[in-house]
Amino acid sequence: MLDSPVKDRLHQFHRAYLTTRGVSINNKGRWKCFVHEDTAPSCNFVPGTEERLWHCHGCGVTSDIFDSCHYLEGRPQNGVAWFKETFCYLAAEFNVEVPRFDRELTPEEEHEMLVDRAFERAARLVLSMQHSDMVRSKLADYGWSPVILRSFGIGGVTSFSAYVEEMDKAGFSLDFLKDIGLADYRIFREQSLIFTIKDHNGRPIAFAGRNLLFEQEVEALEKLSKESLEYSALESKHAPKYVNTAFAKGQILFGFHLARGNSSLYVFEGNADCVTAHNLGLLNSVAVCGARFNEKHLQLSLENGVRHFICCFDSDNGGQGGKEAFAEFFDKQLEARPDVRAELIDLPAPDGQKVDPDVFMRRNGLKAFRDLPRRSYFYWNAKKETRDRVTVAGEYVRKILLQPDPLMRYDMLCQLSEATTLPRELLFESALQQASRQDSEIAKQVVAAGQRLLLFKEQPAQVKAALTGVSPAVEKVYEPVRKIADPAPKPTAAPVVKLVPARAQSDAERVNQAAKANAAAAEQWK
Ligand SMILES: [Zn+2]
Repeated sequence: MLDSPVKDRLHQFHRAYLTTRGVSINNKGRWKCFVHEDTAPSCNFVPGTEERLWHCHGCGVTSDIFDSCHYLEGRPQNGVAWFKETFCYLAAEFNVEVPRFDRELTPEEEHEMLVDRAFERAARLVLSMQHSDMVRSKLADYGWSPVILRSFGIGGVTSFSAYVEEMDKAGFSLDFLKDIGLADYRIFREQSLIFTIKDHNGRPIAFAGRNLLFEQEVEALEKLSKESLEYSALESKHAPKYVNTAFAKGQILFGFHLARGNSSLYVFEGNADCVTAHNLGLLNSVAVCGARFNEKHLQLSLENGVRHFICCFDSDNGGQGGKEAFAEFFDKQLEARPDVRAELIDLPAPDGQKVDPDVFMRRNGLKAFRDLPRRSYFYWNAKKETRDRVTVAGEYVRKILLQPDPLMRYDMLCQLSEATTLPRELLFESALQQASRQDSEIAKQVVAAGQRLLLFKEQPAQVKAALTGVSPAVEKVYEPVRKIADPAPKPTAAPVVKLVPARAQSDAERVNQAAKANAAAAEQWK
């Protein structure tokens, strides 16, 4: 969109514009409405919109800076006239440079501008129109705060006809709405909870409607005979659970405009999962809008500095499929990006029942959700291997030796140990052996770590002394070192499947034996 960056800048001047035009904002942030005859200050900026929008509690108008300019100075709201007489006028006023056109706008550009304004208007109506009882009750179930609803753009319309009428008042005819996909009755009706889908800059580009009659209609259909007239009548008007206006589904991450700026990102399947996560304070959450997480999503995230993905799918079969696809996808995509981490959250499925993250978080709270076990895609791929575990371990150890971060190498080693049930010590020995044949910087580090470990083994008393009083988080990292320094680990230590007989055995012996087993294993894949 040619005017988008300028538009974003202009929105920052909304308050300045109002005050220079004589609107007096009191110390509570309220002012008298200039759209209707206001006796008390009924207007305030809509929280969560960074003063892009204000709302009047008297007449119900919700307005951005361009509409304010229309109401205060009678300037056009839409079309080319809007561009020339409102948009460029405000840009000049606030010294925001508009790219110069030595030509007239093309019809396509004019059309695009009009469509853009129509989507903005519809997004505002979704927030400001009176919601039906059905929508209100669904929102009460979710328990999302008003600020969350506004920052996402979630709400509903009073009725289809009321919506069409409001759009018409703003200069968008029903025919025009039909042309641009904004007249879908299945979305813009009172039985639909409407989600505004925004691009990564927060501009509305589509709408998704959750059909609130869906469950009820399915139940009614199940009771009827498929041959009956009632069945075909009901089936013909039965809308899917989710309907959305057309948009490039695979390129948008729902909620990304709010999650931007975080280096880690929670990726959910459903919009509601993402909104609940934000509502509970997990502000780095997005949803894939019913698509698979793909290269476009990855690219968008990487460009915005995301280096850690935490993916959470429903605990049903679809979710499981999504999990595998996700693990495979990251395995391919991140081969050359060892700086990027991707993990999957295991959502518990009591009695094989479907649980989605939204329900889980609302029932158990954010802490319980964050405490759920997470494993990297590396684990899932190793886990689903059908080849023998020694072959798998050898291959995955090679992948670990590509990881520049020592903490991540350690984490991968632990996950590989868990997936293959081979002891960590053995995997470390294997890594050491492979590293000693390589010339890379990482290999050198691993070999040096091995030498330090040897030193630790010879001086257990010093190591024990050095590890006294370190914080639990740090202690976890030094766990293998401590194991060597302290021959009798506490019974609470994580169980490790032992390849060696479970008799009393010194650690030196155990490591020795592990090394022998490893050498034998290495012989196999030479
Ligand atoms: Zn008003």
